[in-house]
Amino acid sequence: MSTPVPAAVHDAALPSHEGGVDWARVRADFPLLMREVHGKPLVYFDNANTGQKPLPVIASQDAFYRRQNANVSRAVHALGTEATEAYEGARGKLARFLGVRADELVLCSGTTFAINLVAYSWALPRLKAGDVILVSRMEHHANIVPWQLVAQRTGATVRVAEILADGSLDLDALYRAMTAEVKLLALAHVSNVLGTVNPVREICREARRRGIVTVVDGSQAAPHMKLDVAAIGCDFYALTGHKMCAPTGTGALWARREHLLAMPPFIGGGEMIKEVSFDGTVFNDPPHKFEAGTPNIAGFVGLGAAVDYLESVGMDAIAAREAELLAHATEALQAIPGLRIFGTAPHKAAVISFLVEGAHAHDLATLLDLEGVAVRSGQHCAHPLLQFFGVAATLRASLAFYNTHEEIERFAAALDKTRRLLQ
Ligand code: PMP
Repeated sequence: MSTPVPAAVHDAALPSHEGGVDWARVRADFPLLMREVHGKPLVYFDNANTGQKPLPVIASQDAFYRRQNANVSRAVHALGTEATEAYEGARGKLARFLGVRADELVLCSGTTFAINLVAYSWALPRLKAGDVILVSRMEHHANIVPWQLVAQRTGATVRVAEILADGSLDLDALYRAMTAEVKLLALAHVSNVLGTVNPVREICREARRRGIVTVVDGSQAAPHMKLDVAAIGCDFYALTGHKMCAPTGTGALWARREHLLAMPPFIGGGEMIKEVSFDGTVFNDPPHKFEAGTPNIAGFVGLGAAVDYLESVGMDAIAAREAELLAHATEALQAIPGLRIFGTAPHKAAVISFLVEGAHAHDLATLLDLEGVAVRSGQHCAHPLLQFFGVAATLRASLAFYNTHEEIERFAAALDKTRRLLQ
């Protein structure tokens, strides 16, 4: 007796939000949010660090390992074909979600790998002494350190575009910094510390006019807004799956095809070749040329399910919901005496970095944890940005569409209580 293959377990469970999103129903899709921490209901406000996973994504992992597990692109048997279709299907879903071509989308472990791929495969063979790599003050270390490594090996230098006091990019300074020596601009779409949404479309247009290649770090943008990556006009766009409802160890690099064709492989091994002999190797076509070894197949099936899920809720609805939550959280925090917010740019994602006078960030975060509230404290992988503000650490509350107004109230009350204990 054969059991039917649950090819689309996750599709079957997708909620319908026709006629308006029922946010309580959306929240119920995230089982982890129902748990308690230290005997208190969890308030998870560390979404910029990693996001929680909805039931269809969790189910996709179970279904894949129960019914489809096999390696991709190698076996002709049924499971191998199904696994390959599922993996390539996920690439197609993500490409559609981003508004790009699937054959320009390299699947990889996340933003860190994606940016390193550009650094080692595009920049390292091209840059030389005298060239400049331009980055902004608000970059995550993943968009700084790879460029420093390239600079060390090529003799190029890394130049910094500064920000304004409110955490926006100083656009005049940025354009002035785009001199003839600049070969590459690496910039966050959305800051993971300040929430600032950078006008990447305008910036990439200016860079392109000057012949500067652009790398946009979309880690904090992809989970929160409708993207049209092709319309941004960048050369490379990096993202990470675990912040957008997908399993860890998934992500992608989108690149213009001309770059993918010109770039040498970064990592060698199986999958990325057409033919190997001891006289030499013929590489596979992009994007597979950059996907050596067995990929995180189940993880990418989960990324496909995450994209389906986000689209079923709707990225515009998600952006509107998060704007509402951000406004509420900002107002609630501003009412707390001695609280200072870092990052007040007019166009912001739902990330609030802050400090409370007289209380250390780690102490507050530890006490908040005892109240069931998960916020991050520290430097958020952005040391140069914190140096700009002259502080050693901040607390960061980062919200997602599945958070609630009631959680914001509980967070603000817990923060007020804990800061009194410390002052
Ligand atoms: N860039 C930004 C803006 C981020 O927020 C993060 C994750 N905190 C990264 C890059 C790195 O992502 P990953 O660790 O998933 O590679």
